[in-house]
Amino acid sequence: MAIYKAPLDDIKYLTNEFLDTSPLSDITEFSDMTADLTDAIFDEASNLGEKLLFPLNRSGDEQGCQLNDGEVTTPDGFKEAYQEMSEGGWGSFTCHLEFGGQGLPHYIANSVDEMIISSNISFSIYMGLTIGAYNAIHKFGTEQLKQQYLPNMVTGKWSGTMCLTESHCGTDLGLIRSKAIPQDDGSYFISGSKIFISAGEHDLTENIIHLVLARTPGAPDGIKGISLFLVPKINPNKDGSLGTANNVSCSGIEHKMGIKASATCSMEFDNSRGYLIGELNKGMKAMFVMMNSARLHVGIQGLALAQASYSSAVDYAKERLQGRALTGVKQPTKPADPLIVHPDVRRMLMTMKAYTEGSRALSSWLSLQLDISHCATDQATRHQADELVSLLTPIIKAFLTDIGEIVTSLGIQIYGGHGYIRENGVEQYLRDARICQLYEGANGIQALDLVGRKLPSHMGRSLRHFFHPVADFLEHHQANKELAAFVQPLAKSFSRLQNATLMIAQKGLKNPDEAGAAASDYLRLFGLVAMGYMWAQMAEQAHPKEGIMSKNFYDSKIKTGLFFMDRILPQTGSLLSAIMAGSKSTMALDEAFF
Ligand SMILES: Cc1cc2nc3c(=O)[nH]c(=O)nc-3n(C[C@H](O)[C@H](O)[C@H](O)COP(=O)(O)OP(=O)(O)OC[C@H]3O[C@@H](n4cnc5c(N)ncnc54)[C@H](O)[C@@H]3O)c2cc1C
Repeated sequence: MAIYKAPLDDIKYLTNEFLDTSPLSDITEFSDMTADLTDAIFDEASNLGEKLLFPLNRSGDEQGCQLNDGEVTTPDGFKEAYQEMSEGGWGSFTCHLEFGGQGLPHYIANSVDEMIISSNISFSIYMGLTIGAYNAIHKFGTEQLKQQYLPNMVTGKWSGTMCLTESHCGTDLGLIRSKAIPQDDGSYFISGSKIFISAGEHDLTENIIHLVLARTPGAPDGIKGISLFLVPKINPNKDGSLGTANNVSCSGIEHKMGIKASATCSMEFDNSRGYLIGELNKGMKAMFVMMNSARLHVGIQGLALAQASYSSAVDYAKERLQGRALTGVKQPTKPADPLIVHPDVRRMLMTMKAYTEGSRALSSWLSLQLDISHCATDQATRHQADELVSLLTPIIKAFLTDIGEIVTSLGIQIYGGHGYIRENGVEQYLRDARICQLYEGANGIQALDLVGRKLPSHMGRSLRHFFHPVADFLEHHQANKELAAFVQPLAKSFSRLQNATLMIAQKGLKNPDEAGAAASDYLRLFGLVAMGYMWAQMAEQAHPKEGIMSKNFYDSKIKTGLFFMDRILPQTGSLLSAIMAGSKSTMALDEAFF
């Protein structure tokens, strides 16, 4: 059976030692974030994840959600668990104190989220979407809307959604047809059909606050004519009590490959009363502001499922007895040795471990940059962090969710045929992980965002915010013998990344298909270098072996990091070759021959 063991040591190490939180040291809200407090939060989150949410993961997958007469029922146990998590404030970590939230930084909240997602990704989606909607209302809503809606969203009494997709438009949101007709009182009547809306309808909360993209009469065509509206399922009265239903209904739920306990709904809005969020025709701008944290969150979903799969695979590889070690019998009293003695099984376990810990370091570091971009007192520091977050967000979203797929597939391979059998629980992780590569902007679109928008942004300044620290690190350690096994492969891969960047900049300007054809390989190359940089820094910290963790912990970090450098980072060589080959062979075949 699948098990889940929260990676508490790694999370505590990253939070308390790896991350340089000094740019936040003068922020009074964060001043009580001592290691004792954060460790206690992490301990309790792992406890809730392992004991409350993980036991509902398999049953939720089997049972799924049900739709009857427009009402969606979540699987058994979800309602009670939601109640308990909401009462404990687990959904409102990053929400602002003035609305009843806890005002915690993302670099802490995201580690808590990782544990919740690993335990039960479907469950986590209900809470995660509420935060997405909260953020949009908080950033762009009027004071009145904020006072009316945010406190109940913070307590979890009301949940939130993001209603973008329609049947004819997913990536290309400029094609949206939903309408918003202005009313005399300043509100709008929203009409239209949305599909694939996560948590669009469910039985966990008494009200659902939808954020809907729609078009007003006479708005410009395409993306420039889209506005964002807040549309409650039930209109609240002035005193906060629930009033009349708002003509919002669920006409269907999807039967899906994974995340089956998360209700994916077709939603109908029929002259439903809505309120403008942000400026008219600037709905996409409002959405883009939210995207950094939402996409980082989806990247963490990839990491979380990788961790869940790894926990089970390690357990299984130590228990399952098959064959004898190539170098001689390891457990003579047993009929066979455990799987973990075999080099090929170790290759898979080490790949899972190196990717998972590397992903955690990368996402924790980016979460901290997000906090710095919001809160640092110095404006230049805030700007720099903001540009770095923008640059790296598509990489975290796509690279970490691709890793989620790779690792959860390896998890099945380690179980052999038993991994393919539903009752053993690990095939669910792969099914659940697959959606992360698709929603919140498909991974191919992330790659286009990286090469088309992020590389050239501010004349390459965003790129330099990443390239310069890597170059400085390499220069600083070029004669460091202890770190040579990290510094040399990183230097080689970094130079490949620089070459690929130059090629894309030069050829992409002349022919955009060149950049388009190279984009996904380039994103992966960039992700590998960024992860290599994380591993090299962790190795730098681990070498003196005098930190807050045990000697074994640092020893394990160095050995896992060496595996990443030896066996994974060299992929940058083949990626560079593929990028340099250009778009010719990709585009040569006439459409008729497909
Ligand atoms: C389970 C689930 C939950 C979801 N939850 C929500 C939700 O809560 N709210 C919401 O609004 N939506 C939601 N979605 C929708 C999701 O965000 C979209 O499915 C996604 O954006 C992709 O759109 P699409 O499916 O129409 O694919 P398409 O846009 O048709 O794309 C198909 C493929 O073509 C590629 N492609 C498209 N255009 C280009 C281009 N210009 N250049 C290169 N490649 C391109 C894409 O990368 C993709 O691989 C959900 C979807 C699912 C399945």
